[in-house]
Amino acid sequence: MHRKHRKNEDPFTCVMEMIRRTGEILEFDKRFPGAKMVERIAISDKIIRFKSIIPRDDGGVGVFQCYRVQQSDTLGPYKGGTRLHPSVNMDEVKALATLMTLKTSLVDVPFGGGKGGICVDPKGLSVMELERLIRRYVNQIKDDLGPDEDIPAPDVNSGPREMAWIYDEYRNYSESARGVVTGKPLELGGSLGRLQATGYGVALITERFCYGNKLVNPAISIEGFGNVGQFAAMKLSEMGFRVIAVSDSGGCVVNQTGLNITRLLAYKREKGQVADFPDAKPLGNILEAPMDIHIPCALGHSINGENVDQLGSNLKLIVEGANSPVSSQAEKILEGKGVTLVPDILANAGGVIVSYYEWVQNREGLYWSEDEVLGRMNGKMIAAYDRVVNYAEEKKLFLRQAAYCLSMEKIARAINYRGSQ
Ligand code: NAD
Repeated sequence: MHRKHRKNEDPFTCVMEMIRRTGEILEFDKRFPGAKMVERIAISDKIIRFKSIIPRDDGGVGVFQCYRVQQSDTLGPYKGGTRLHPSVNMDEVKALATLMTLKTSLVDVPFGGGKGGICVDPKGLSVMELERLIRRYVNQIKDDLGPDEDIPAPDVNSGPREMAWIYDEYRNYSESARGVVTGKPLELGGSLGRLQATGYGVALITERFCYGNKLVNPAISIEGFGNVGQFAAMKLSEMGFRVIAVSDSGGCVVNQTGLNITRLLAYKREKGQVADFPDAKPLGNILEAPMDIHIPCALGHSINGENVDQLGSNLKLIVEGANSPVSSQAEKILEGKGVTLVPDILANAGGVIVSYYEWVQNREGLYWSEDEVLGRMNGKMIAAYDRVVNYAEEKKLFLRQAAYCLSMEKIARAINYRGSQ
């Protein structure tokens, strides 16, 4: 998805604008005079930008632009995923790293925020080439990583296999390696429940909203059928919800009475796509599905000023499974129409919560059951959701603004306690 952003509409600018506005609402200048609180939250601690060169299988070389942004360690070690995608760029990684800082603060996980990315189409590399690239990437930033320093995790196009390579490469330089990366395979110290965590958390929040707002039998659409989208669909379907439309980068399918998610998952595993799934009709654009709830689980700004009007008039709720899926311009229009948005830093926090549990289990050397992991995650997600909803009602704010307020208030207090030196 190489989308051209309108001026001032890219995800980084949108996040920075939200931080600035939140600083005003929280009256940082008055409460912490001279402390430059907004700048101290918004400006990243360290930005690492480098190129990785690897030998290709055909005897040539591959050259790749790489990034790691260490956004803030105010509340704990830097923490955030590693995105592998041809559209990865500096501003995107900075925006994603900032969202991580806000997310960990909001859901009470003792981490800061960071993010990494490699500008690459992984489908264009052999498995050996991809492994070489990940190992080279780790080798070049090894001094900045560490279980108490900076802890990568999965993101778009990276999963347990890539996390295993990160772990294994890092082991060459440090003995205390297990907690250096999360989202690892179980055999290498991964946590039960990590794979499902983000999608299950998204489903839980959707259910909580429906329960609180008496939304009965809503039609749900899910954009993106990767890690987050698949587990969200699976859980929602187990909960008895009607998932009517699903899309991936190759197409979109719809069935008004509800897709059979178990069969769709098996079909996707076999064919690598959702298009042409037998029990459904093709749909050109998922935004046109007749849904009550839309759950974007793909890339940034998939809903923007140019396509927001394609969303049907039934729409009541957007749950942001992806990071920054709704541009500010689209958000204003949706708010005007009375659509509720559950923001990314709340909705998709299940992943970082269970990453934290993985890190804790690695340190303890004691591993928990899946029920224990997911039970704890559910408790944290619900507590954060209720905090945000109650604060929003009390202060008459939209949910994203309320979530930013709660998150930034905590970071600002921590900065203030740490003093000005
Ligand atoms: P993934 O690579 O597993 O899946 C991405 C999916 O998006 C794929 O199905 C791909 O086909 C689809 N996609 C790409 N372009 C599309 C398009 N134009 N239309 C429809 N679908 C499209 O990635 P993921 O880990 O599921 O991450 C998805 C989003 O969730 C990202 O924004 C990521 O930052 C966010 N997120 C992921 C996690 C996690 O634990 N994996 C945690 C928090 C947030």
